[in-house]
Amino acid sequence: MIPRRVLEDQLVLYSQRLHQAGFVANHDGNLSARLADGRFLATPTAISKANVTRERLIVVDSEGRVVSGTGKPFTELALHLATYRVRADVMAVIHAHPPVATGFAVAGVAVRTAMIAEAVVSLGAVVPLVMYARPKTPEWTAALAPHLEDADLLLLEHHGALTCGPDLETCYLRMELVEHLAKIQLAATQVAAARDIPAADVQKLLEARTAAGLGKAGRQLSTKR
Ligand SMILES: [Zn+2]
Repeated sequence: MIPRRVLEDQLVLYSQRLHQAGFVANHDGNLSARLADGRFLATPTAISKANVTRERLIVVDSEGRVVSGTGKPFTELALHLATYRVRADVMAVIHAHPPVATGFAVAGVAVRTAMIAEAVVSLGAVVPLVMYARPKTPEWTAALAPHLEDADLLLLEHHGALTCGPDLETCYLRMELVEHLAKIQLAATQVAAARDIPAADVQKLLEARTAAGLGKAGRQLSTKR
């Protein structure tokens, strides 16, 4: 378990990285990490990710109630908590609106991984595009669960991206990767069309993904080891 002080520093660091990378505007984006006591350390609502400091972080319980800190929780905390509920292995969640990937989500077009071999291993066969649901409705959070079985990165239709993982760095890198893939797919589509690698290769790469402990099958394999 990462010490709380280190987690606080990481939340501040990756908040600022999200802002520097242009993955958020205004008060967009939010980050959280699981604490040893079952509570969660999180960024507060209504703050630019450029201005997050250790002092402004909040701690919430599994129902989203503030346990410490002066800030209020963000609405999308429900999406984070739904992710932690479904995936006991997840230690951190990041949500942001990276503009190119979010453009795909607004257009209802999935970001493809099978264009690039490495992306299949890192992210799986697809980046799920979670169907739009009105914020704060039960459908909004329920829509995530089926996709989280195998994916650590979701695109939310008409909204943005959500990444989860064993730590904040991994979540941030997954956010970077989906934006990068979206840019590549966009460029390929402008040139001609985005083509996929052979299906047999995708299958082999998915086996490598499982061997690397990623995805549902990979997680099962690593708990057996
Ligand atoms: Zn959002």
